[in-house]
Amino acid sequence: MTESVPEVAPIGVAIIGGGPGGLSAGLQLVRANRRIAILDSNRPRHSATLQSHGFLTRDGAPPLELRRLGREEFEQYPTAIFAQAAAREVVPLSREEALSVGFPDGIGFRVRGSGIRGSSDVEFVARRVLLAAGLTEELPDLPMIRAYYGTALHSCVECDGFEKTDKPLVLIGETSDLFARALLISRFSSDLIVFTNGADTVRPEQEAQLASIGIRVERRQIDDIVGERADMTGVRLADGEIIPRVGGFVRPRWHAPVEFLGDLEVERDDWGLVVVSERGETSIRGVYAVGDIVPPGPQQLIIAAGNGARVAAKLNMDMIRGALGVGLVDE
Ligand SMILES: Cc1cc2nc3c(=O)[nH]c(=O)nc-3n(C[C@H](O)[C@H](O)[C@H](O)COP(=O)(O)OP(=O)(O)OC[C@H]3O[C@@H](n4cnc5c(N)ncnc54)[C@H](O)[C@@H]3O)c2cc1C
Repeated sequence: MTESVPEVAPIGVAIIGGGPGGLSAGLQLVRANRRIAILDSNRPRHSATLQSHGFLTRDGAPPLELRRLGREEFEQYPTAIFAQAAAREVVPLSREEALSVGFPDGIGFRVRGSGIRGSSDVEFVARRVLLAAGLTEELPDLPMIRAYYGTALHSCVECDGFEKTDKPLVLIGETSDLFARALLISRFSSDLIVFTNGADTVRPEQEAQLASIGIRVERRQIDDIVGERADMTGVRLADGEIIPRVGGFVRPRWHAPVEFLGDLEVERDDWGLVVVSERGETSIRGVYAVGDIVPPGPQQLIIAAGNGARVAAKLNMDMIRGALGVGLVDE
């Protein structure tokens, strides 16, 4: 027996995540006269920082202000719904269920979310789902690292490198892309030490190349970040030596938070990011993804917003073609 579809007004797209990726897609789609719901749990990765850089016309703006403005613009449209809710379940409708609620191509999803900050739980029946949930991040396991993250220590070199020009910097990480990151940081300061925290992730020839431009690789285990009040002053190694440093970059490990997909298996790459086609569609028909959650992973606000706008256009066309039964956009 097929499960009955709940009595909720069907919508075009349920967008999971109200960061720049989700908000930008949402804006484009309400402007295409689509009924769109954004569910947002209000836990953006950049909440650690007070200023965002590099977003044209908003350079230096607080990231929360950008989100507030984006939400305001989205909500101006009569077909916009913004729910303060964490998506907890995405379940595909059967073809019959989807057709019965008026989804012409027989594709649809039921999306349930838990209200946050006193908001009610929500439920939507949507023709398409857009994953814009960003990433969660795990910093190297050092007791005080969080205290300096977003002020002295950052993760996005393009976003925060300029402010660190000519300073004595660190790059702390345990992953295989440290070499490439160190090269990027060398544009801002040649006084850089790469700390692998005991991990064997910089190859000897890479270490030699870095040494040739004055960058040292420190392979000893780190005990903690040290500082005076709000200012970072150095890195203390496990053997007690303190290496004076005022800030720099850390390479977190990132996770795509898509547990709400449950049994729906979505293809991921080696880093765990959600793989998408050129149109932004995941391996699940009807589920799209944008922003930091898709390869190559974390980038910048303006890139997430641009990606959201681009994929929104593809999604809109997918729904138009789906209604007419004329196949996918790129066929
Ligand atoms: C410390 C720091 C500083 C940064 N500084 C800059 C900068 O200066 N300039 C710049 O351009 N970029 C900066 N970035 C990068 C920038 O923040 C990201 O590239 C951008 O926010 C990615 O946008 P997004 O929409 O993909 O994801 P996010 O902005 O992370 O938004 C994702 C949203 O989805 C929500 N979400 C997650 N799971 C669920 C769920 N189950 N249900 C509902 N909602 C959910 C989250 O709460 C969040 O609100 C910085 C990042 C960090 C970590």
